[in-house]
Amino acid sequence: MNIIIAIDGYSSTGKSTTAKAVAKALGYVYIDTGAMYRAVTYLALEKGYVSTSGIEVKSLMKDLRKSEIKFVYNPELGFSEIYLNGKNIETDIRGIEIANWVSEVAKQPEVRTYLVDLQRKMGKDKGIVMDGRDIGTTVFPEAELKIFMTASEQVRAQRRYKELQAKGDNASFDEVLANIQHRDHIDTTRKESPLKKADDAIVIDNTNLTIEEQVQKILAMVKS
Ligand code: C5P
Repeated sequence: MNIIIAIDGYSSTGKSTTAKAVAKALGYVYIDTGAMYRAVTYLALEKGYVSTSGIEVKSLMKDLRKSEIKFVYNPELGFSEIYLNGKNIETDIRGIEIANWVSEVAKQPEVRTYLVDLQRKMGKDKGIVMDGRDIGTTVFPEAELKIFMTASEQVRAQRRYKELQAKGDNASFDEVLANIQHRDHIDTTRKESPLKKADDAIVIDNTNLTIEEQVQKILAMVKS
């Protein structure tokens, strides 16, 4: 029997690394919904719809409705990469500039309604691991297994900082920590489907867990 596994949690808790490994072990499809919000942010920046005075939501939605966001499986990497209008933007969306704007874009109700609809279509056949902020509460409240991941702020910032450094991104540790705090604040306080644990979600605090340990924990839950 195929199920839906919803993994939510704060920024940089290792949700996607864990979700990818769980999907691989089960032969499930993995969907990174954060990448979808990042892709919309990429579009908004590219079109010049983002400024300190706000987001031009109407224009953005017009372009978004004409755009195609899809995931294409890369057999060499063993996971799917995100494409916007035929262009692979997987690397472009991971930098600090997108990270600095994505939560502003993601709090727009029009953007959320549009992407949630797309996510439900992607998961309609089940056999899916989806990670994000509102999967267990809004996208798939009926998901058979819900995980809520958390870890200390310092540990999360340290992990993300190392990741960015490995990619040659020069963001400082303080900048990365400030970005995580900023996104957590917007994500938990926004009106439309804020980040919060679903009542029936199982909490995994991975401050002191390896990726392998948490993957095994989740696989054991799937079995039981
Ligand atoms: O998961 P990731 O850190 O890539 O997500 C980037 C941002 O996208 C989050 O900080 C959040 O603002 C937004 N997001 C969201 N709902 C989701 C997934 C991501 O609002 N389901």
